[in-house]
Amino acid sequence: MKAVAVFPSRRELALLDRPTPRLASPHDVVLKIRDVGVCGTDKEICRFDYGTPPSRAAHLVIGHESVGQVIDIGPAVTRVRKGDLVVPMVRRPCPHAGCGACRADRQDFCFTGDFHERGIKDAHGFMTEVVVDDERYMNVVPEALRDVAVLVEPLTIAEKALAQVWQVQQRLPWACAHAAGAARGSCHRAVVIGAGPVGLLGAMALVNAGFDTTVYSRGAAPNPKAAIVDAIGARYVDAEQVSVDELARRVGNIDLVYEAAGASQVAFEAMRVLGTNGIFAFTGVPGRRGPIAIDTDLLMRNLVLKNQVVLGTVNAGREVFEAAIADLGVFLARWPDAVRGLITGRFPLEAHRELLLGEPSGIKNVLVFA
Ligand code: BGC
Repeated sequence: MKAVAVFPSRRELALLDRPTPRLASPHDVVLKIRDVGVCGTDKEICRFDYGTPPSRAAHLVIGHESVGQVIDIGPAVTRVRKGDLVVPMVRRPCPHAGCGACRADRQDFCFTGDFHERGIKDAHGFMTEVVVDDERYMNVVPEALRDVAVLVEPLTIAEKALAQVWQVQQRLPWACAHAAGAARGSCHRAVVIGAGPVGLLGAMALVNAGFDTTVYSRGAAPNPKAAIVDAIGARYVDAEQVSVDELARRVGNIDLVYEAAGASQVAFEAMRVLGTNGIFAFTGVPGRRGPIAIDTDLLMRNLVLKNQVVLGTVNAGREVFEAAIADLGVFLARWPDAVRGLITGRFPLEAHRELLLGEPSGIKNVLVFA
């Protein structure tokens, strides 16, 4: 079977022919991969800035945003059935008895750093025809989401961030004194930095939770990303034309910043205008471009005098995958064209080099393994 892999020591991207994996344990399932999304992390791995092959392997099969169909199951499998459409989780627990997170199935908070991530770190990924994995990492997706289920994994990033925002903000009277039935973010203002798939899915999650939402991203409107922002009832602001100070004047007290651009300069500038009792969630992993100057006195004064919180968040556990699947269904019912519009291209496997190494284009590009 075919698989897209990198050889970091040779700095090569290759299409491999690998043996098709088979059931190895009673809890395993066999997946026929349908769609695999291409994201910034994959591109970084293909630039050899990130990514680690499994021990003793020279190559890493990439791909972590995926949808597969169950074609076989081991005798002890109970969570999925043949024919089910599933989105596999990315991270696998570390082996250490002392890691409270991994031992509690919360490897997204692994303490040791010895977790594996399929397609990213120490484990082969999903950009291949057939995958075998334990049923406990599978999340069943309704048939109605088939075309867009590849968006579940990138949506988990926003879902995990928002789940933590609600938890952390319980430390103060943040709940909206709203009319019964109003969404719980309805008295708050959120700014999303970046209008890639993670930013736009985050904006959908925020609007759906009732936040007054502004997306701050580079690029003059009209453009396809700004059109999606408009369609979901959020506001688009061009970061090349509008300073963060002007952004804050337009928005008012910024209660939440959801960072999804992976660019530290604009993020720390926006941190300067975070509002009173505000929370700032980082999700991007920037490349190393060298230090920049920031006004640390101002940031520290604001953090203290405005009761602010800054948090970083990575990866996602089972509950968050389930929340993402449920919410993607809600988004699709509410904004069918905007959700479908996030997927700007479906390509055959032969297009992998162009998608992984070429100039960025579109919003979410998907490799289809029909
Ligand atoms: C993936 C996460 C992963 C993170 C860090 C992201 O692109 O979506 O699952 O934890 O990269 O490797």
